[in-house]
Amino acid sequence: MECFIVLPSDVDLERRELIIRGEEAHHAIRSLRLRTGDALMATNLIGTCYRARVEQAAVGSLVCSLEETLPNFSEADRDVLLIPAMISQPARWDFLLEKSTELGVMAIQPVLTERTERGHFRRDRSEKILRAAVKQTKRAWMPAVKSSLSGVETSSAKLASLREALASASAEGRSIFLLHEAADETASLVRAMIWESAKSIAIAVGPEGGFTEEEVRMAREEFGARVVSLGPRRLRAETAAIAALAIVMAAE
Ligand code: SAH
Repeated sequence: MECFIVLPSDVDLERRELIIRGEEAHHAIRSLRLRTGDALMATNLIGTCYRARVEQAAVGSLVCSLEETLPNFSEADRDVLLIPAMISQPARWDFLLEKSTELGVMAIQPVLTERTERGHFRRDRSEKILRAAVKQTKRAWMPAVKSSLSGVETSSAKLASLREALASASAEGRSIFLLHEAADETASLVRAMIWESAKSIAIAVGPEGGFTEEEVRMAREEFGARVVSLGPRRLRAETAAIAALAIVMAAE
């Protein structure tokens, strides 16, 4: 069953009706050929999915009867914030966004580190990828991609520093893990997760050049981060992020 995005204001719980509009409706009618009586899913991207049935299919709008409201549909038990050093190649960044959305991440805060080359990202492009991945995965939430904590929101979003992101994760009471290739192998993320009961977690991933020892020290000493390994092989940053998310989500 296909999943579409519905604006929260287009859901009428009293009349048990929802309307899918714009490009979403166009895609449903023209490409997927949805017709009266067909079943579909919709997500409002802010925590609720719906099961619905097409009542009226017109160009630009799809009026549906609402059959079931599904709060938090397919969401993970854990609230995971990913803190990756910004990835300079756009294709790798896109891959990270798509795969971490599929794996259930709640928020992504790309950061500047000492060895990060790229200091911004394209918000419109990132959101397009997130929306497509949410639909594919049939999730109730679209992950938030956070730019600089204090910065003005523009189409080219500026990044927070590693320190700012760790400080805010720590203020939110998250258990923080920092992935480090050189971490003592006994401190593996898999092992750490066996005992981890926190529902709210942050995972920091370094740039291609790795975290500096000073950054690792800061994360550990100032923010209580646990420095953990994913095994003996040096992974690409986006692979490390995705592997870590899979481990954390599997250990629910
Ligand atoms: N050349 C760098 C490697 C960076 S790999 C160095 O020598 O440190 C990019 C990032 O992916 C790392 O900073 C780390 O956060 C993560 N990573 C890659 N492989 C990893 C592994 N085996 N265990 C834990 N983290 C890893």
